[in-house]
Amino acid sequence: DLTDPVLASEAELAFEGALRPRSLAEFVGQTRVRGQLQLLLTAATIQQRTPDHILLAGPPGLGKTTLAMIVAHEGGRPLRMSSGPAIQHAGDLAAILSSLVPGEVLFIDEIHRMARSAEEMLYLAMEDFRIDIMVGKGAGATSVPLDLAPFTLVGATTRAGLLPNPLRDRFGFTAHLEFYDEAELEQVLARAATLLGLDIDREAVAEIAGRCRGTPRIANRLLRRVRDYALVHTDRADLSAVRAALDLYDVDELGLDRLDRAVMQIILTRFGGGPVGLNTLAVSVGEESETIEAVVEPFLVRIGLITRTPRGRVATPAAWRHFGLASGETALP
Ligand code: ADP
Repeated sequence: DLTDPVLASEAELAFEGALRPRSLAEFVGQTRVRGQLQLLLTAATIQQRTPDHILLAGPPGLGKTTLAMIVAHEGGRPLRMSSGPAIQHAGDLAAILSSLVPGEVLFIDEIHRMARSAEEMLYLAMEDFRIDIMVGKGAGATSVPLDLAPFTLVGATTRAGLLPNPLRDRFGFTAHLEFYDEAELEQVLARAATLLGLDIDREAVAEIAGRCRGTPRIANRLLRRVRDYALVHTDRADLSAVRAALDLYDVDELGLDRLDRAVMQIILTRFGGGPVGLNTLAVSVGEESETIEAVVEPFLVRIGLITRTPRGRVATPAAWRHFGLASGETALP
């Protein structure tokens, strides 16, 4: 799906890799976070120590992996990449930690999905660069301490709230990434167009910026489809090419994709505008509630189509208008 901020094919990953900013200076937007990271990295360099552990929180596609790579690159440090789902036992984590070289940056994506037993090992590793390894079984089991090379952990999560407090507290710095505004997305797109050697009109760039869910990953992906469209149909990446390409791929004027619309449809038509609980919503659209909460909902809230209340999600008047319905109607056009 073109606007799914999570899914990425093999070709997609190669394409993303080519467009990834390599330094903080090239990284567009997130001005506050960039300044904070710059300070943290520079201070570590001056003191000749590994930078503090960093937690990056925010919806998919906003630059968490990119920032982890930049942290390694700016400090001239090697980078090891792993993810929560790949760490299902404490042993998986022990193998990674014990093979780190001094100063290495360890990136753990989706860190909230790591096994509990590994989490506990990580506490000690983050604090003292040490782990305890259990040797033997039953009454004869003993724990053997193992010193680790000093490292910097960069954890990424779509939901900081899911991390247990002891883990969250061990990060020296937490950055909350926000959706990008249109001016920033235009910069992301202009940079990508240059790298792709694509000649694109300004209005075309602005149109994509307004329809990419505030997400650089989606902006770049839409740009690629517009390039295809121009290649095949119009030989010019102009406003009409953008409109035609995005219509073809079912991206509406607000950038809502099929899942966003399905969620809105449920709230508006089946539940008369809400409130609807998260689990009910998830079951109704056949998605995991984590996806609804981490991917769909933050954007719908951000653009003012829903609000969160203690009793559930409620559609705003803007939502009724966007879907061309009067409050209380039950069919979408
Ligand atoms: P996340 O890890 O948060 O899901 P990524 O770091 O993988 O997101 O970013 C997805 C893509 O979006 C990257 O390949 C990169 O090209 C682009 N991107 C993300 N943030 C920025 C940014 N601030 N400036 C320019 N491009 C960005």
